[in-house]
Amino acid sequence: MPSAAQPPRAARVPSARDQAPAGFRVFIDFDNTISRGDILDGIIEAFSPTGEWRTLEEAWAAGRIGARECLDGQLRGLRARWPELARHLDGVRLDPGFVLLRDLLRREGIELTIVSDNFDLFLAHVLARNGLADVPCRANHLEFAGDRVVPSFPFSNPECPGCAHCKKTHFLPPNDDARLVVFIGDGRSDICPSTHAGLVFAKDSLLAHLRRAGRPCRAYSDLTEVTEALAIILHENKI
Ligand SMILES: [Mg+2]
Ligand SMILES: [Zn+2]
Repeated sequence: MPSAAQPPRAARVPSARDQAPAGFRVFIDFDNTISRGDILDGIIEAFSPTGEWRTLEEAWAAGRIGARECLDGQLRGLRARWPELARHLDGVRLDPGFVLLRDLLRREGIELTIVSDNFDLFLAHVLARNGLADVPCRANHLEFAGDRVVPSFPFSNPECPGCAHCKKTHFLPPNDDARLVVFIGDGRSDICPSTHAGLVFAKDSLLAHLRRAGRPCRAYSDLTEVTEALAIILHENKI
């Protein structure tokens, strides 16, 4: 949890009077940001044979365990084979503004990466089904073993024990460059990267947290709004 005592980083895009900006790159959360609702929560609820997942969720919500320990236990508790999970995922609906965002950034030559605390197999299925398989995606990893799944966390960060997938690692050293980082998210796993991004679009609990902490961000309710705001920033180079 970032300290409110730390000075907030300004969410400011360089103006035309500044030296020419080196451009942008955009990182976006998946669950409840691109998807309608939290897909991973839905899977855990639908395919857990016991209530153990709730105990883990409560321990995580109370801060007694980190997100990685919580997700690891919840995924290991699932009992499901891929065809059932795929059928469940076929019902996932996405914010239609995400296609607009993908298309805008593609036209402008701006890198877009999904960064998610969900799992690669689930996201690959949903993205392919919605014609979005071309969007780069970084997520936790999953393998099947019969009716069980084995999770792993290739983007965990020993310096950030609260995160399962520490999303900021994709744009902090050694993965940083001169481009301004735009981050779009909604929830608790987005707090860590949001405190290191140059421009943050936030909704729901992320927005509430950033406002409480006095950190600059732009509120949004759907990705069509974000796309329109970014189009203005890109074309007029101002907030
Ligand atoms: Mg989310
Ligand atoms: Zn982190």
